[in-house]
Amino acid sequence: MIEHQVFTDLTKNGKPRPWKKNKLDNLTYAEYLLMLNYRKATNVKDCGNVLRFKKTKDGFLKLYQTWFCKSRLCPLCAWRRSMKNSNQLIQILNEAHREYPNGCFLFLTLSTKNTYSDTLKPEMQKMGRSVSKLFQYKKISKNLLGYVRSTEITVNHDDGSYNQHMHVLLFVSSRYFKGSENYISQAEWTKYWRKAMKLDYQPMVNVEAVHPSKSKNDLLAGAKETAKYQVKSADYITDDKQRDLQVTDDLEQALSHTRAISYGKLFKTIRKKLQLEDEDDLVNTDDPNEDSVLTDAEIVVAKWNYELQNYFIS
Ligand SMILES: [Zn+2]
Repeated sequence: MIEHQVFTDLTKNGKPRPWKKNKLDNLTYAEYLLMLNYRKATNVKDCGNVLRFKKTKDGFLKLYQTWFCKSRLCPLCAWRRSMKNSNQLIQILNEAHREYPNGCFLFLTLSTKNTYSDTLKPEMQKMGRSVSKLFQYKKISKNLLGYVRSTEITVNHDDGSYNQHMHVLLFVSSRYFKGSENYISQAEWTKYWRKAMKLDYQPMVNVEAVHPSKSKNDLLAGAKETAKYQVKSADYITDDKQRDLQVTDDLEQALSHTRAISYGKLFKTIRKKLQLEDEDDLVNTDDPNEDSVLTDAEIVVAKWNYELQNYFIS
């Protein structure tokens, strides 16, 4: 009998990376897609079945080869994407700060009223167009150096509605805080968002400046918030399968042909300069802590076992 050795991949803090949980959720998601007659269901099921890692000098694992389905809602791919986006974003923010040491960071959250199945996609499209318009308003654009934005959708399980909101991290010139002709209060941001969205109600808008003395931690938190999952898998993988199917179908439609994260102005330029534009590469997550790999390093192969529901070293 062959001994199965369970695969583990530890972070530098000694925490196991959630490969198993994400693969199990991936299989539930693949099953939903199959039931909903999505053609990509079989591809999604094959996502991350065989993982090849190289051992780093200090004994950690760095993924170097696998096949990812890249489906937006795939829990494995969403996890890799969010890791990659937050690592890249941190590099971009550091560079922006280096180029403009007096620049300031602001976190902006833009939302609108909850929507339902049939209006989620058009509402998301409208928000995308409106935010571009917002950044063109003179008072906003004149001090805006760079920005990055992402859209998050949460599910209200009580009434089946969706809340879509945008996380924006803004980099502004220090002039932004000087005088009422530059400074934009929360009430004013709300007014501008309402105007850009052409709303007949007051939307929820929140704006916070990153405090200079603790900016490093705040920025890290903000970068993670902006780059995090668009939808938590716990929102479409629940105990209620019928409901999950409806939610999965709605989210598939709403997220198709949209971008998880987009960069503007200076951030876009820096991203290009740092050559961080390979969005589809979910193997290399650009983690600066993962770079100590030898080219002839030992290789570890982990395979998903459908019967035993876990990854094993092969
Ligand atoms: Zn995937």
